[in-house]
Amino acid sequence: MPNLSAQMSLPSDRILMQEAPDFRHIDTWIFDLDNTLYPADCELFAQIEERMTRYIADRLHLSTAEATRLRHTYYRTYGSTLCGLIAIHGVDPEPFLAHVHDVDLSILRPNDALNHAVGRLRGRRFVFTNGCRHHAWRVLNRLGLERSFDDIWDIRTVNFVPKPQVRAYEQVVAAAAIAPKGAAMFEDIACNLLPAHALGMTTVWIRNGVPTSDTDLQPNAITRHHINHEIDDLAEFLHAIRL
Ligand SMILES: [Mg+2]
Repeated sequence: MPNLSAQMSLPSDRILMQEAPDFRHIDTWIFDLDNTLYPADCELFAQIEERMTRYIADRLHLSTAEATRLRHTYYRTYGSTLCGLIAIHGVDPEPFLAHVHDVDLSILRPNDALNHAVGRLRGRRFVFTNGCRHHAWRVLNRLGLERSFDDIWDIRTVNFVPKPQVRAYEQVVAAAAIAPKGAAMFEDIACNLLPAHALGMTTVWIRNGVPTSDTDLQPNAITRHHINHEIDDLAEFLHAIRL
């Protein structure tokens, strides 16, 4: 038999392995939830944004347009809408969290490719979200990922200090005894990777490409020196990396 691989100059598996992103030093895997573990174009997070706007409009007696502006302002200033509402208006976080996360998850389906890709990651795996744990559990259940993570860090467990405030990351690192140089963080909001990179983590930005998303509100001047990898498909990337 002729050596077809040699004739066609196909790259060998060994070369492909050498070119794959090297994550052999990683033993802690930290994933954002919304628009990271499921694609932004399913518009689940858009439901949450809409419910946040409605809550603000009702609570503060504002028009929808005014409430939307305030939501954006608090997101930019405090890292999360809720934290702005707590700081400025003394809003009780629990009714807010229950209301905004009471969304229809039927759009989400079990993601076997992602489930398999996450399953091959050695070490500990965490979800780190500015949302609430209950919402995270519901989402993970819909995706078939409910047994794939060691723990969920939500806005309560970081004492309502949201990403991208560095104190949020420091709390997670301390509580879980994480060595940042052995940790990788995956996020769709690029500025949320800044503190992770500063602490020494490997950072992966998932470009979600949804122009109406709050991710538009990231500072335009953001540089990319803090992003180690830019990707479009999380499952595909996790399948490709060297472990
Ligand atoms: Mg997100």
